[in-house]
Amino acid sequence: MTISTAEIRSAFLDYFAKHGHQKVASSSLVPADDPTLLFTNAGMNQFKDVFLGAEKRAYTRAVSSQRCVRAGGKHNDLENVGYTARHHTFFEMLGNFSFGDYFKKEAIALAWNFLTEELKLPKHKLLVTVYAEDDEAFEIWEKEIGIPKDKIIRIGTSDNFWSMGDTGPCGPCSEIFYDHGEHIWGGPPGTPEEDGDRFIEIWNLVFMQFNRQADGSMEPLPKPSIDTGMGLERISAILQHVHSNYEIDLFQALIKDAASVTGAKDLQDKSLRVVADHIRSCGFLIADGVLPSNEGRGYVLRRIIRRAVRHGYKLGAQDIFFYKLVASLVTQMGAAYPELKTQQASIERVLKAEEEQFARTLERGMQILSDALESLDGKVIPGELVFKLYDTYGFPSDLTNDVAREKGYSIDEQGFEAAMAEQRKRAQAASNFGADYNAQLTSENCSEFTGYDNEAGMAQVLELFNL
Ligand code: ATP
Ligand code: MG
Ligand code: MG
Ligand code: MG
Repeated sequence: MTISTAEIRSAFLDYFAKHGHQKVASSSLVPADDPTLLFTNAGMNQFKDVFLGAEKRAYTRAVSSQRCVRAGGKHNDLENVGYTARHHTFFEMLGNFSFGDYFKKEAIALAWNFLTEELKLPKHKLLVTVYAEDDEAFEIWEKEIGIPKDKIIRIGTSDNFWSMGDTGPCGPCSEIFYDHGEHIWGGPPGTPEEDGDRFIEIWNLVFMQFNRQADGSMEPLPKPSIDTGMGLERISAILQHVHSNYEIDLFQALIKDAASVTGAKDLQDKSLRVVADHIRSCGFLIADGVLPSNEGRGYVLRRIIRRAVRHGYKLGAQDIFFYKLVASLVTQMGAAYPELKTQQASIERVLKAEEEQFARTLERGMQILSDALESLDGKVIPGELVFKLYDTYGFPSDLTNDVAREKGYSIDEQGFEAAMAEQRKRAQAASNFGADYNAQLTSENCSEFTGYDNEAGMAQVLELFNL
């Protein structure tokens, strides 16, 4: 019997609670009072003001399992989904925090003991990185923990130095990696092969030690703090003796259900991973109040939904399917996140409406794209075409890019941006005359969608788009 993802989450929270940490619930994916952040992307987000000293809490140690989305903004893993073994758009970050309480020594010992004593990971499979100048962390790993020198890698890049912004709290990081074995391609961090997935980063320990001033100088913080983050799905993969996050219990269940609603036969199909990944981010984003739209957070959600729909179609879906996976998501994650269950019906409604709207034009857009690829000279899809697909068929540029990449093409981002800028100018001019040409595309005036192959439905769309 292997340990389940749900059990690992509890084991983490209980371990740190036992060591004096307050259990704090995950915050929303929509950051409170932080317009600079697209989505919550780390456990520390909800503690930002506590780290900055602007807010006091009744505790100085905390532990959480934070829902995170990295599908836009500074951290964007959307393009990695389906390609790496370790990235999701939505994942859970397990983290322990010290607000001016313990520091490096204790943080390292707590992490190491949790991994090797509580979870019983074999020590020889672990290696760590430290910031190049952080001799203190190097010594702790070597002398107190007993890791051989050749498994402590000094890295001088920003990957191992964390900062909250241009000024403010910052400090070196130490990352813990797991070696999944020689049979998998890739090299340890700091080598040219590090992009392979043999050595997978599981836990990042951030030592908040300095306060960077406007002139770039670093003042030591009077009370240094700790922020850590470990991907729940990555540690599950290790404990369930699989390499990819997509092979863990929770994902296998989602993948099976995705196969049954799309009619896919091959459970290894990368598109199934994409669909299984995307139902999590979409379900959780909608539960947290984000709705598909043409800008900001809503546009990111729209892009993820359309991408999932395209992959479902590729898997053989004959009808709208994506919303059907909400039930599966609730089965897998509803116990840990009851809000998913209470909002199930609204999540389904939103996804259904969005898919209906997009499905009408998907097939035709795909046809235009494949025809264009056949007659293309080089390997770059012109910005004008990327724009046309966006404007006429609702293909976000990353979706066109996704299709392009599968076929060995890339897109002309700059040309696309230029065409977008042109359109904004035109829209500006049009709105001066009171015309809102987006109004005709709302879901209210579209009747029920009855399948991808429905001629009448397609005729209606063509009419709507004046084609
Ligand atoms: P990577 O280098 O693998 O992209 P990262 O350094 O960007 O990871 P951090 O910002 O350090 O990740 O986040 C802390 C932890 O959260 C990581 O060590 C990892 O376990 C997990 N994590 C980060 N991004 C993802 C993701 N997209 N999907 C799943 N887990 C993730
Ligand atoms: Mg990353
Ligand atoms: Mg990293
Ligand atoms: Mg990291």
